[in-house]
Amino acid sequence: MSPRRVAVIGLDCLEPSLAFGSLAGRMPFLGSLRGRGRWGRLTSCIPPITVPAWMCMATGQDPGQLGIYGFRNRSDHSHGPLDTATAEMVTAPRLWDLAGRAGLTSVVLGWPLTFPAAPLKGAMVAGPLTPSGSRAGVWPASLGPRLKRWAGGEYLYDIKDFRSAPREELLEQLEVMARRRFAVAHGLRGLYEPELLMMVEMSPDRLHHAFWGDEAALAGHYALIDRLVGELVATLPPETLVLVVSDHGARTLQGGLCMNQWLRGRGYLKLKDPPPEPCPLSAEMVDWPRTRAWAEGGYYSRIYLNIAGREPSGAVPPDQAEALAAQLAAELEALAGPDGRPLGNRVYRPRDIYRQVNRVAPDLILHPGGLAWRALATVGPGPEPIFTAGNDTGPDGANHAQQGVLVAALAGGAALAKAGQEVQGASLYDLFPSLAAWLGLDAPAGGPGAAWDWLPA
Ligand SMILES: [Zn+2]
Repeated sequence: MSPRRVAVIGLDCLEPSLAFGSLAGRMPFLGSLRGRGRWGRLTSCIPPITVPAWMCMATGQDPGQLGIYGFRNRSDHSHGPLDTATAEMVTAPRLWDLAGRAGLTSVVLGWPLTFPAAPLKGAMVAGPLTPSGSRAGVWPASLGPRLKRWAGGEYLYDIKDFRSAPREELLEQLEVMARRRFAVAHGLRGLYEPELLMMVEMSPDRLHHAFWGDEAALAGHYALIDRLVGELVATLPPETLVLVVSDHGARTLQGGLCMNQWLRGRGYLKLKDPPPEPCPLSAEMVDWPRTRAWAEGGYYSRIYLNIAGREPSGAVPPDQAEALAAQLAAELEALAGPDGRPLGNRVYRPRDIYRQVNRVAPDLILHPGGLAWRALATVGPGPEPIFTAGNDTGPDGANHAQQGVLVAALAGGAALAKAGQEVQGASLYDLFPSLAAWLGLDAPAGGPGAAWDWLPA
């Protein structure tokens, strides 16, 4: 019997209401996979962000277990700038580590949070955040020259300045990046014939942020992605289990909530010297001994308490930290938007939503307007306004949404049981136990997910 195989084709930010809804007609290959397989919405982690979401899939661990709460994290309780996450922070075994221990070969391509690329049984091309041309982006390093040959040009880890690049140029770059990534996938698959192929293509995410609302641009790129996925799946051995997944979806961005302005207005954050023009909050601007809380911006907000004995110049007595966190959460959940109606903020405490809380977690995690709004770190001369029409890191039409896509089917023509039926309640944490079971790997328990019972035994 030939060994079982898996191909995970990750499409960052692919939005279910488009892929299964308004643009389903532009994705005939995905439609054929859905018809002979199973499909549904895949609930992301909190926060639903590329880092840590893809690593939650690869390890089955939640962000608290990983100790990775976003692209950037506090490495200690000082007031210094946040550090960018790297692969070295991940200590949990990834699916490809388990595969290697069982003697199976893996190809890992473009998976976020894999830089610097590390040795494995197989090959790895690291994900976004890899500096272009870095020798540490590819393992084994001898593969480097092949990438360019397979890609027919420079292999693109990501698109630089995707919020500000000229639009026509950007749309073309997204296509070039996607074509080259899939060309490299073909090259690696042919060279290694892996039992486990795990790849992530970033262009749908960049597309959504830059072109949300531009139906022609979205439809064209979804159609391209569908062709590229179809061409790759056509080369896989028929018994390969193919998963097409996204780490989160996308939704219309209503505007920005300036969290530090809000904290200032309520007296939680004190500035020594307010800036003459709006700018991001920096540690130097803050009157720390009088500040009880501050926030970082992004697709979601991380709110930190300035606790005496934990932070330098901490202002909150440790025995009052709980009450302050509860008070902030209640005030934020009651916050009205610019139209006077409740904004719909969702506030989470790491210890309530994660199985463990490792490294330095935010004290509160905020999804502004349930992710209809973005969080901005900006402060201005005065504590008003707290709402903005745009984003502070460049124009952006979309925010992340809590649910991504899941399509599972065999590469060959054979249908899964209950083919075509929608799967309910799948989460990205389920991938790790499900794929480990499918491949017969011994996977550590402890994550929040469970193996899908609708996959063949
Ligand atoms: Zn993402």
